[in-house]
Amino acid sequence: MASLIERVRENIDSARSQITEAAIRAGRQPEDVSIMAVTKTHPVEYISAALECGIIHIGENRISEGGRKIKQLGESRATFHAIGVLHRKEVRQAIRDFQWLDAVHKTEIIEEIARRNASPNILLEVNTSGEAAKKGFPPDIDLLENEIGRALELELPVKGFLTIGPLSSDSVKQRSSFALLRSIRDSLECRLGVSLPELSMGMSDDFALAVEEGSTMVRLGRRLFGERMGLV
Ligand SMILES: *Cc1c(COP(=O)(O)O)cnc(C)c1O
Repeated sequence: MASLIERVRENIDSARSQITEAAIRAGRQPEDVSIMAVTKTHPVEYISAALECGIIHIGENRISEGGRKIKQLGESRATFHAIGVLHRKEVRQAIRDFQWLDAVHKTEIIEEIARRNASPNILLEVNTSGEAAKKGFPPDIDLLENEIGRALELELPVKGFLTIGPLSSDSVKQRSSFALLRSIRDSLECRLGVSLPELSMGMSDDFALAVEEGSTMVRLGRRLFGERMGLV
């Protein structure tokens, strides 16, 4: 049986080729897209394996689970991203353990981060599919302009946005959800006169489309590590 590292390396290589092809189809530079390895539910050895294969960005969706593994891992060159819903009471631990908070979905979370005098990199999560079960700010330009304006006033480094594509496997719906986020980003950069370079879009089942529509970071779990055994 192939070792974990060999398996992960093979999966990263093939995902990377798909990203390259998608980027070229869209006239983009393949190196403008990073792969985030999503290691939720997996033991810390999976993080080590991804790092061994050259991955830098690691995503965990639960603050306590991620924090535990970050501690187990010790010193590393990994950049940790909190990609799950962030509750107010978790902010303190999140800013201690993670360099990026990628799913900020409420004003009160922005205020709580600022109140703690921390400046992690921040992405705002936007619910581009309109699905009721998804968190995130509505895709409303005026509202998002206010939120980002407020965060910048509080001197928080807002770097862009995250969205989760629709549950549907309809590629027209998937594409329009990603295209919407990119167009919101483009408008807000213009209106606010700031750079919002990161678009965290695309997971195992829809990352190629997301890259065609401007993703700068795809979040891959199953594509790199296989099916998850536990609950998300
Ligand atoms: C689990 C998770 C992913 C990775 O999902 P896969 O379908 O396994 O690639 C990406 N983003 C978020 C927010 C997640 O919770």
